[in-house]
Amino acid sequence: MSATAHTPSPRAAVRPPRAGRSNGQWKVDGPEPLNANEVFKAESDPLAVRERIERVYAREGFDSIPSDDLRGRLRWWGLYTQRKPGIDGGRTATLEPHELEDRYFMLRVRIDGGALTTRQLRTIAGVSEDFARGTADLTDRQNIQLHWVRVEDVPEIWRRLEAVGLSTTEACGDVPRVILGSPVAGVARDELIDPTPVIEEIQSRFVGDPSLANLPRKFKSAITGHPSLDVVHEINDIAFVAVRHPDLGVGYDLWVGGALSTAPRLGERLGAFVAPERAADVWHGVVRIFRDYGYRRLRNKARLKFLLADWGVERFRTVLEQEYLGYALPDGPAAPVPPTPGDHLGVHRQKDGQYYIGFSPVVGRVSGPQLRQVADLAEARGSHRVRLTPHQKLLVLDVPPRRARGLITAMAKIGLAAEPGAWQRRAIACTGIEYCKLAIVETKRTAATAIATLEERLGDLDRLTPLSLHVNGCPNSCARIQTADIGLKGQIITDDAGRQAPGFQVHLGGGLAGEGTAGGGLGRTVRGLKVAADDVAGYVERVVRRFDADHADGE
Ligand code: SF4
Repeated sequence: MSATAHTPSPRAAVRPPRAGRSNGQWKVDGPEPLNANEVFKAESDPLAVRERIERVYAREGFDSIPSDDLRGRLRWWGLYTQRKPGIDGGRTATLEPHELEDRYFMLRVRIDGGALTTRQLRTIAGVSEDFARGTADLTDRQNIQLHWVRVEDVPEIWRRLEAVGLSTTEACGDVPRVILGSPVAGVARDELIDPTPVIEEIQSRFVGDPSLANLPRKFKSAITGHPSLDVVHEINDIAFVAVRHPDLGVGYDLWVGGALSTAPRLGERLGAFVAPERAADVWHGVVRIFRDYGYRRLRNKARLKFLLADWGVERFRTVLEQEYLGYALPDGPAAPVPPTPGDHLGVHRQKDGQYYIGFSPVVGRVSGPQLRQVADLAEARGSHRVRLTPHQKLLVLDVPPRRARGLITAMAKIGLAAEPGAWQRRAIACTGIEYCKLAIVETKRTAATAIATLEERLGDLDRLTPLSLHVNGCPNSCARIQTADIGLKGQIITDDAGRQAPGFQVHLGGGLAGEGTAGGGLGRTVRGLKVAADDVAGYVERVVRRFDADHADGE
């Protein structure tokens, strides 16, 4: 793969909504709500639900929560009802929400930039142990998700989280979600710029801002100063990628309009250079374009990518500069593309001579006690900082060189590998049927079983570039299946014996930042190719062995 600038072509067709009628663009059509979600957002500020949770629902319990809050506004504070155990995936589409949902919640802790102190990590561990049956998952958006949370416990959970500077504010809902940030911000020797000040400015000025709390849909952000392009920037609504301008120094290349789900589209460069001190204002301009011009009639056309597909980058940039910023942005270059995006696993020297060490759980599944142990082990070696990655992994920063080997050994004993096998390293999996109401199949266990089998059976093929395996429990793309070498989309399939069984639709050849068969692009659905959930490892082994036998040199 060449190390030249690129804008990957968004190959999937993303069609804007039909013209000639109101599509719910506030600045064009007015604020009339055109669907049920728009109605509940217009009726009452979703952020205001917090007061009702604290005053009423936490005291009177689950049954006191009306539907619009339960399945709508609670998300603005990171709360989703979780799936009732034991309902098989074949019934997901046929049951009403109240039949699918349990009386417990998933709680998403928002961790902008994935940056945690060990004190914060220990607090999350305590919340997990005391209120979430010890559950904890590292997500591929640098959040931590807990399960089995009761509404009665939410105020105490907030009290503990907020006492250490954490929150669940706008962790879900039609809002600016967590800001992905380079996991090695401020420490990597080869970073171009530390994006932390931009993340902190956006966080302090705009997260929880009521004027941005009713967007057409979610709005995802990413920023990196690292040349390995480590924040999956192409699939965010807005992304800032560090670049060196020949005349203006180091700043950011601006991307907009990326998103996956059922109509995936990679983001596009606006060709504009953003000076670091302007980045938060530019972010604010883009999010307000989305608020004011985003299509709100149909939820499945409401992401920013549909507006970009309609307008094109030239018009988008003009509107940004003229209507929202009041100044023109200079043109700027694209960032060079690395051979693979950074995952930061293993041992790396920091700019201050200490080490950061990246560790891998299996597909992000950890636990409260394990997170507490991570905090203890890090502190015992003088580290007080941890970072989460967009690949369901975690880093311990600031490890003195002579303590690195000891930390690696101790972390391995609690199931966190600094040098994981090739399949574990590149695998992620979404929540799946264990807790997700939209899921059709199980994911975490399926992926973990497949990884163990593949690492045993395919050890002889380690010479191949490690391949990524992403496992989704439904047609949504929380685990980014279109950007994996092998992406699996959960569905019910008909097995060889003619029975309905959990399985996956296969996508092949995706990748980001120059990786993958597509050279940094969306994978293709292999028409008709489906695999049973209990044959994932066998299927992947067949694909890899065939690839090994047939691929051309350099492919
Ligand atoms: Fe749930 Fe589907 Fe997202 Fe997986 S991809 S977490 S099953 S919505």
